[in-house]
Amino acid sequence: MMACSAIQFGAVVSGFYGRRWWLSLTPEKQEEHKRWYQERRNIFYGSLSAFYLTLLSYYLTHLEKDPIEKRRRFIMFSKDEQAALGHTIFKALLEKYKNELIPASDPMYARLRTVINNIGRANKNIFERTEWTVNVVNVSLPNAMVFSGGNVFVFSGIFDVIQNDDQLTFILAHEMSHVLLLHMAELFSHKVLEEMMYAVPLFLVWAIFSRWTALMLQLGSVFLHNILVTYPYKRRLETEADKVGFQLSARSCIDLREVLLFWELMDKYEELTKVKDYVIPALMTHPDHISRQRKLTCQLPEALKLRDQAESKIAG
Ligand SMILES: [Zn+2]
Repeated sequence: MMACSAIQFGAVVSGFYGRRWWLSLTPEKQEEHKRWYQERRNIFYGSLSAFYLTLLSYYLTHLEKDPIEKRRRFIMFSKDEQAALGHTIFKALLEKYKNELIPASDPMYARLRTVINNIGRANKNIFERTEWTVNVVNVSLPNAMVFSGGNVFVFSGIFDVIQNDDQLTFILAHEMSHVLLLHMAELFSHKVLEEMMYAVPLFLVWAIFSRWTALMLQLGSVFLHNILVTYPYKRRLETEADKVGFQLSARSCIDLREVLLFWELMDKYEELTKVKDYVIPALMTHPDHISRQRKLTCQLPEALKLRDQAESKIAG
């Protein structure tokens, strides 16, 4: 990731100074360089084509089918690298919130452990070897995260929004689904590929245009890329985690209507905290709460079947 950022930074710096150098040349010298380039342009075009063909073949050879949703996805990290990535982000969060960490004696921990163990037991074929760790921080935002390896990180604000453990089950199951579906690895893989792809256009923008125009073009293209590609893609991953999380929750035998109510609560929370006033749907990384509720309502019959199967297994 650092190497990719360095490539991007290098593209900007070399484009910027390359342009400065070019403008400092006399017209005769510029003509001389143009002739030099014209004689070798096939080498440049060939190298550029080889670079993009290598990227394309790398992308195609690293596509794999997700065993849960059967969707083809691009993952460039090995299992060990994925675990290291999750661990690094988890450690960084722990460091960031070390002063807000709530002691393990707080009743929130017992509540979380009960819910996590219930999900783990109900889906033991998936979480058989997972050793869960739980950390709660005193932050008023309703948020939770789960990292590969079983590290659960919860903001205490979640307890101000939820009404019961069934809703808590869904939140954690949704976060666990992000891990099961390797969403973090997929997001980072796309990021690395995109930064490699954009290195050459970025160099050209800074080499051709003046710095303010180049900066505007760079920021504008990032903005457009986010609206057209990144945000819709992230919203799609959220919908996928909702679906799988709903299934994990169904097998945990919770009252699934509570999940639908939860999205209504979240919608109300955003209304009361005025967050909703600033929400622009195209700029959101998550789908709006009511559309999430609507999608899960459509999945309710399927989820109820899973819950019935799980209940009859327990009864049997
Ligand atoms: Zn999510």
